[in-house]
Amino acid sequence: MKLIYSNDHRDHAGAKEMRYDQMIPMSESPERMDMIMTALAEAGFSDAVAPNAHGLEVAHQVHDPAFVSFLERCYPLWEAEFGPGGFATAYTFGMRGMDQQPNPSVHSMLSCYTFDVCVPFVQGTWQAIRSAKDVALTGVDLIHQGERSVFSLCRPPGHHASRDMAGGYCYLNNAAIAAQAHLNTGAKRVAILDIDYHHGNGTQSIFYDRSDVLFASLHCRPEDEYPFLMGYAREVGKGPGRGYNVNLPMPRGTDYGVWGPALAIALARIHSYAPDVLVVSLGVDSFAGDPVGGFELQSPDFVAIGQAIAQAGLPTHFVMEGGYAMEALGTNVANVISGYSKI
Ligand SMILES: [Zn+2]
Repeated sequence: MKLIYSNDHRDHAGAKEMRYDQMIPMSESPERMDMIMTALAEAGFSDAVAPNAHGLEVAHQVHDPAFVSFLERCYPLWEAEFGPGGFATAYTFGMRGMDQQPNPSVHSMLSCYTFDVCVPFVQGTWQAIRSAKDVALTGVDLIHQGERSVFSLCRPPGHHASRDMAGGYCYLNNAAIAAQAHLNTGAKRVAILDIDYHHGNGTQSIFYDRSDVLFASLHCRPEDEYPFLMGYAREVGKGPGRGYNVNLPMPRGTDYGVWGPALAIALARIHSYAPDVLVVSLGVDSFAGDPVGGFELQSPDFVAIGQAIAQAGLPTHFVMEGGYAMEALGTNVANVISGYSKI
């Protein structure tokens, strides 16, 4: 399987995040990618290519161009006010029911375009965001050129980012950008299977009223877990998108005995949808030891996940999302890719 990877994410680092009542170093770190690349190489996957530079056109199809512009300008504006070395984060968030318009103040834009305190901006953030988008789009190019499966090693992740809001370590939605690009290059239907522990609220919202992208997500239920407000089974899409959004929420403590059958349900729905391409939002924070997760999946379970995805028999584009248990992260990701490749 071809891997697409760039070191351009590396300077998106050094910020802290608020976890309930504590300020802690960001769990979403550059070292995550080192763990993954090392484990993939040990498992025999070393066929990595650098991404090709792409423009922002596809990003502007799934995101508000004003939001994308904010992502680029945020840190320079912050630095102009506070000087170098810190990180930009929102101080307030929007209210419902009133007309609220951002103004050129960086604080106003942070309030408008972010929905939590887990999307800090540092000097290297925009370069990382832009590179992750290119990593995703290069995967699309390779599938279009005939590769059966590719793995876009995107960092930062993307599935929490909506059309015009960043949150949950996510800025641009790499999987959504990939899905849109697959449609642009000839696919009639694309399915996104999101197996990250957290609900892909951003991806869901982007495609909620569309039938050309099926979104199926396995995640911890909103009663127990971030993002707390979305991810219910009753969210099935709206308008032309009705029936094309499938949420499979599960309680904290879920193990593979329950998670595996839920994956089978998602894959059965994907099979009946008959997509031209399957995009997999690959998060492995469902692992039992994940500090940001709460499920009980074990490392060998990830081999079974890869095998089940392979049995769908579709051109498959893996896009990296979450996973923060540093000692097992690489193994779990490599297990999915090994399991997929053995079929
Ligand atoms: Zn996650």
